[in-house]
Amino acid sequence: MAKKSRPKPGKKKPFRKAPAKRAAPKKVPRKSAQKAQAKEVPAPRPSYSPMDKEQRISKIEEGTVIDHIMPETVFKVAEILRLSSHPNLVSIATNLPSKKMGKKAIIKIEKRFLTDEEVNKISVFTPDATVSIIRNFQVKEKGRVKVPDSIENVIRCSNPACVSNHEPITTKFTVVEKDPLKVVCVYCERPMVQSEIEIV
Ligand SMILES: [Zn+2]
Repeated sequence: MAKKSRPKPGKKKPFRKAPAKRAAPKKVPRKSAQKAQAKEVPAPRPSYSPMDKEQRISKIEEGTVIDHIMPETVFKVAEILRLSSHPNLVSIATNLPSKKMGKKAIIKIEKRFLTDEEVNKISVFTPDATVSIIRNFQVKEKGRVKVPDSIENVIRCSNPACVSNHEPITTKFTVVEKDPLKVVCVYCERPMVQSEIEIV
């Protein structure tokens, strides 16, 4: 399903083109050496260079980038978007370091744009995700997903007796709380929290 980009054998190796900057072993007076050392301690150097980070997922020419996905939901998002049957490039990277989230996941989808309904669905599982529309390798539009006030035809009611589980009707929930998500079924008034939510 996921095609991760790797440098092709025989091509130039971008990872090695610009080696990570290292502190030059220059001879410096003792005092300033100590100072430099002290400065580096609070912010340990990550195990990758910024360049590596850029190259983990290749850029796309046209399509959608979903960033700031909670790693535990990334395959749910892929399922919602039915990416396993997408005929063009799909890159999924997960557990990437993120200042804001600790760890995050990114999905890049070539030649695919999301409908509002899909964005709503994603927001139910990963409310901090950002969605960027890419055209000609440039970000044309960027926005955060937003949990809607009501959710239709996205999630299933957890009440087995609910009419929405027996009649061919659209499921409908009122969003009571957005973070953490709490919804109430319009038909049977069953409240549901994030962990109980399943997609239709
Ligand atoms: Zn219900």
